[in-house]
Amino acid sequence: MSHELRQQDPAIHAAIASEQERQCSTLEMIASENFASPAVLEALGSVMNNKYAEGLPGKRYYGGCEFVDVAETLALERLYALFGAEHANVQAHSGASANLAAYLAVADPGSTLLGMSLAHGGHLTHGHPVSFSGRLFKAVQYGVRVDDGRIDYEQVEALAREHRPRLIVAGASAYPRVIDFERFARVAREVGAALVVDMAHIAGLVAAGLHPSPVPHADLVTSTTHKTLRGPRGGFVLARAAHAEKLDKTVFPGLQGGPLMHVIAAKAVCFGEALGPGFRAYQQRVIDNAQRLASSLRERGFDLVSGGTDNHLMLVDLRPRGLTGKQAEEALHRAHITVNKNAVPNDPQKPWVTSGIRIGTPALSTRGFGTDEMTMIAGWIVRVLEQPDDSKVAEQVGREVRQLSASFPLFAWEPVRA
Ligand SMILES: *Cc1c(COP(=O)(O)O)cnc(C)c1O
Repeated sequence: MSHELRQQDPAIHAAIASEQERQCSTLEMIASENFASPAVLEALGSVMNNKYAEGLPGKRYYGGCEFVDVAETLALERLYALFGAEHANVQAHSGASANLAAYLAVADPGSTLLGMSLAHGGHLTHGHPVSFSGRLFKAVQYGVRVDDGRIDYEQVEALAREHRPRLIVAGASAYPRVIDFERFARVAREVGAALVVDMAHIAGLVAAGLHPSPVPHADLVTSTTHKTLRGPRGGFVLARAAHAEKLDKTVFPGLQGGPLMHVIAAKAVCFGEALGPGFRAYQQRVIDNAQRLASSLRERGFDLVSGGTDNHLMLVDLRPRGLTGKQAEEALHRAHITVNKNAVPNDPQKPWVTSGIRIGTPALSTRGFGTDEMTMIAGWIVRVLEQPDDSKVAEQVGREVRQLSASFPLFAWEPVRA
């Protein structure tokens, strides 16, 4: 970290240093988080932040865009190489804005949107009433089957035939199984809907060829760049050629002003890393680690929604243990293990309490953790959750967590201390 910041604004410098120390000394198991590389962070902190570049490479409304054009063009070329799409736009500021752009590129406000309910593993932006998606569109929601935790494709088909949506959204934030995009595409075609696949969580797995790609099946594919893809916070949209012009116009001038060129430069770095050697092995480790963690938790008597995982995350159903998600999240936090409370299908608890926790392996896999460490971590999670109110247990597990963390340094440089 620079000396300028320490001198000019010690309070913010200290907050950043403490956050860095927190990331180093805890077990980061929030399924949507990851550790971007020093190269990605360097691009993010660069002078590209200073540039206005409304428009697209070669067609800007401002002068002096020759170098930001290099960055955006490389981001696009690398994205095509990664996912083989006909068209891409890398300007969306986030996953949520990528979704808004994709929806408005193919549907007018007031039309019907069929998406996965948040309570069953979907995302707020897939039709929840508090989100733009539930306010601008007539949202109809599908979910998972209660008996096996899998997407209820028959319900999707029945709701699609009944409501004839303009948009069908596939994708999830808390779904541990492979999604059958081909089946979604078939029903979309049958009812004349556009299919938007939101691969925010699994984009890294898709890029590595470890989850089937939605690109051959969807009209538009949206994503974040900061989850399994391990880049800067941000979004992008892939589209069939037929939607290309409408998509670009919807992003700008439809929804956004100037693109975040420092973030786009960092996206290019991230896509370059994803094309490089080692990325597939990393994504395979993410999956291997999730499977080991899931099997270790099950062996110790914990229930997982759908019985396990195919991807980078799992959902622990705590109802048989008499625990809420909130209690479990707080108990694990005291032991320096970071997870989030999460609703399980048909959860009897309120959203800020819930009956489950979501656990993911992308961030720890970036740090180099392997399956042996997952077995250890499962043991700690079980110890804490068996005695969630025992501060001695939390303290002891916390000490062991710190010891293990110390042998997996997070950053190429020494953590800066306040
Ligand atoms: C995380 C996520 C988003 C939102 O991304 P933000 O960058 O937080 O706006 C959208 N859809 C899904 C499925 C997600 O998991």
